[in-house]
Amino acid sequence: MRKPIIAGNWKMYKSFEEAADFVDEVTSLIPSNEAVDAVICAPAIYLATLVEIADETDLAIGAQNMHYETEGAFTGEVSPTQLASIGVDYVVLGHSERREYFAETDEAINKKVRAALNVDIVPIICCGETDAEREAGQTEAKVEAQITAALQGFSAEEVQHMVIAYEPIWAIGTGKTATADDANAVCGAIRQVVANLFDDATAQAIRIQYGGSVKPENIEELLSKEHIDGALVGGASLQVESYVKLVEAGA
Ligand code: PEP
Repeated sequence: MRKPIIAGNWKMYKSFEEAADFVDEVTSLIPSNEAVDAVICAPAIYLATLVEIADETDLAIGAQNMHYETEGAFTGEVSPTQLASIGVDYVVLGHSERREYFAETDEAINKKVRAALNVDIVPIICCGETDAEREAGQTEAKVEAQITAALQGFSAEEVQHMVIAYEPIWAIGTGKTATADDANAVCGAIRQVVANLFDDATAQAIRIQYGGSVKPENIEELLSKEHIDGALVGGASLQVESYVKLVEAGA
């Protein structure tokens, strides 16, 4: 049985005060992390404070990106070691916005996944197709290529602890959601890619989230599907009420 994981991706939203208040409030409202992993991936500048507020609660804190080097002359970047030193548990890697606006390559994402594991941070590895790729029937080939590249060089044991987020780009922030059946089919195809690259046990262990306009109204149907183990949520993770409902749906 895979434990569901509901992760909020705040992107570049919220003031410091709003972020701290949200985490403070949510920690007393969400169900136990024995039933569901609840994560908030916040802007880097707030992470240290949010980790402190969430300490010894059922909420985990994640970053939205990081560099793959431990340290160095990389102005403006944040390293895996720095994230680990403040107690960050997760990091979103290869989000489509990072791939598109910051030219992140599959090769860089693969290095970041390695760097995350080196400091015991769980990577949430994003993949997904554009609208044009979907129309051209290339969805499975696209996610297969992204996941194969991201997982290159890892052992089966390492991969079992990772999280993959299938996020069709046309569904992110658009209000359009993949049907639960379509999302499940692609998540199943991703699981098959992991089975082919490693083995069945690894494919059964790895958690695969769906992301793209997930909200309290559609999460239950999505989570009822065999291959969907959780959600990566942007917009609906910004309000306490809807975030708590999403986590409750996972429990
Ligand atoms: C995301 O940011 O990864 C995302 C899926 O956003 P939204 O839920 O707003 O579509």
